Amino acid sequence: MGPRPPDILRKSHAHSDGKTRAKDRQTLRDALDASLSEPAAGRALLIDLDGVVYRGDEPIPGSAETVRWLRAERIPHLFVTNTTSRPREAIVGKLRDFGIELAVDDILAPPDAASTWLAARGARRLLLGVPAATASAFDGFDTLTLDEMAESQRSAGATGETQNVDAVVVGDLGRDWTFERLNAAFRSLMREPRPLLVALGMTRYWHAPDGLRLDTAPFVMALAHASGVEPTVLGKPSAEFFQAALDRLGVRAAATAMIGDDIRVDIAGAKAAGLKGILVRTGKFRPGDLKLGIEPDLVLDSFADLVTSAQ
Ligand SMILES: [Mg+2]
Repeated sequence: MGPRPPDILRKSHAHSDGKTRAKDRQTLRDALDASLSEPAAGRALLIDLDGVVYRGDEPIPGSAETVRWLRAERIPHLFVTNTTSRPREAIVGKLRDFGIELAVDDILAPPDAASTWLAARGARRLLLGVPAATASAFDGFDTLTLDEMAESQRSAGATGETQNVDAVVVGDLGRDWTFERLNAAFRSLMREPRPLLVALGMTRYWHAPDGLRLDTAPFVMALAHASGVEPTVLGKPSAEFFQAALDRLGVRAAATAMIGDDIRVDIAGAKAAGLKGILVRTGKFRPGDLKLGIEPDLVLDSFADLVTSAQ
């Protein structure tokens, strides 16, 4: 099923004719049912946070009511985010301020997925290019910060032996990226044996209060391009991350829809992993996103319209 024409939802709000509204609702309900493609009991939703439930420090109107509705309807759901700039506890606190009560385990974030994945691979020593708040997810490992590695490389000199690591982990360092830190990660990746390069998400950019900002992917790509080490992504849009979310809920991909504002990361990623994709016109959504050749199963004006469209 292709995306709904953009004016359907607007018409349903703008017209006072109850018959038209009911018809549009039915159309949307059919689309939602089709997008979830399973009986109600088997449906599940993965829900992006930034740009869907809130935008920066502002809740998106109706999101608290929508979360309450999901619970009342007993629709299994998990909030999935590529945010690595703050721990899940901080996200839970922020959502509480918006009137949304969640447990830490209601959220799946890349550091938790990456920590598990690295431990399974036998990695012990990590170079962390992640914000301080995220580093606690890697407490079980022997870790070095980029500054510590840069210092080690400086004191070793151009030809000296620097410390080996099993993996270089890259998250959303944002404004804390400097040439020296990026180059310390690059030099580590050039040591033999080559470390793993783990990306906590591959989001290209995000919508900060002051405008669009570079996210994790551009820095991971710079490191991969220079070193030739292929990154392993443990965040949206990687199939491994979506599978971890499905495993957590105990549901199948075909019975699950991902709702998000990023047509590449949320929608294309979900569809590649076998899920349905519901795009919202909030957050980073731009009308041009619908011309990229990626077809959402459903397009909604906002997360709150999930309730309208299903009733
Ligand atoms: Mg988003």
